[in-house]
Amino acid sequence: MADNLNLFTSTQAVIQEALHKLGYDEAMYELLKEPLRMLEVRIPVKMDDNTVKVFTGYRAQHNDAVGPTKGGVRFHPGVTPDEMKALSMWMTLKAGIVDLPYGGGKGGVVCDPREMSMGEIERLSRGYVRAVGQIVGPTKDIPAPDVFTNAQIMAWMMDEYSRMDQFNSPGFITGKPIVLGGSQGRDRATAQGVTIIINEAAKKRDIDMQGARVVIQGFGNAGSFLAKFLNDQGAKVIAISDAYGALHDPNGLDIDYLLDRRDSFGTVTTLFENTISNQELLELDCDILVPAAIENQITADNAHNIKAKIVVEAANGPTTTEATKILYDRDILLVPDVLASAGGVTVSYFEWVQNNQGYYWTEDEVNDKLISKMVDAFENIYEVATTRNIDMRLAAYMVGVRRTAEASRFRGWV
Ligand code: GLU
Repeated sequence: MADNLNLFTSTQAVIQEALHKLGYDEAMYELLKEPLRMLEVRIPVKMDDNTVKVFTGYRAQHNDAVGPTKGGVRFHPGVTPDEMKALSMWMTLKAGIVDLPYGGGKGGVVCDPREMSMGEIERLSRGYVRAVGQIVGPTKDIPAPDVFTNAQIMAWMMDEYSRMDQFNSPGFITGKPIVLGGSQGRDRATAQGVTIIINEAAKKRDIDMQGARVVIQGFGNAGSFLAKFLNDQGAKVIAISDAYGALHDPNGLDIDYLLDRRDSFGTVTTLFENTISNQELLELDCDILVPAAIENQITADNAHNIKAKIVVEAANGPTTTEATKILYDRDILLVPDVLASAGGVTVSYFEWVQNNQGYYWTEDEVNDKLISKMVDAFENIYEVATTRNIDMRLAAYMVGVRRTAEASRFRGWV
């Protein structure tokens, strides 16, 4: 993915600008522009046909001045070192934005789980934990689900770590099944967080969520739950998409039916003939556009054609730097990924707290705490953006990076 280089450098550029606006000097940027630690591992896995395949994996730890690092592990053919670095920096920002006592981490394995058996995925998951075992742990670096990893994979990873550690270690990883110490609401937390943010953003632009026309790109974990929540709330989801195409109905799609038909990787459009492209989907006439799929979707090429009044980034990095400026100049409210998608890591934090105290909360308790974290974060960043006349991405970076910078300074690192 050539664009990942772009993603990493554009993340660095915004961090530099945010630190500059906060009054920090170049030395602070030198510390924060790359992860403190980046491990590359090779993972031999016995495949079902008895051959051995060696996979490449990574774990990036951006900065642990505030607390242990935290972030997901993705299994995807497009994983690169630069992507890992950028994503670990985003986790630092997310943790800062919703005020969790963590720094940012991220991991990944270059593989395509869509072409692997369950047994192969299990052996790869366990191999990954053994390979990065030295640098992760419940008080060091806490993994979680990400693209193409799920609760079952978290369970295998937790089991492998518990065996290595000779202790039952539920706090080693979050996003686990409930019976293994998972939290109520974690599986839908990212979408729940995006829903809360969309409602707050809609208030700022006087959009009534009843009947609001929403377009969602991506029907994976975030996109599918989000479609359900907004649909249940009375909004009209007029288009959704997966990696193969998009479905559009100006009168609103039958979301429950589509949820029923989607496979575990979020594919559903292949069942229909009347599809449009993902590019066409982005430019549809609507009130709210939610890119919930992959990076670099809204670019300088199509930002002028976006018709939504609000763009809420549920995916990581869907809008390029140039496009962010174009949308800002067009007075389209863009809520950045590091804020909009912070619901997942927030409930991961709740899960870890529950694991540490051995006492578990109800779904209502989890949701109430999530709402309060997300609303506070939105208001805080919206205020910074409006008082300083800057876009919400830069405002979110300023809020997100400040705590890590302060903690690094108190520790005497810079
Ligand atoms: N992978 C998710 C993210 O990018 C969740 C991370 C976590 O729960 O630690 O925010």
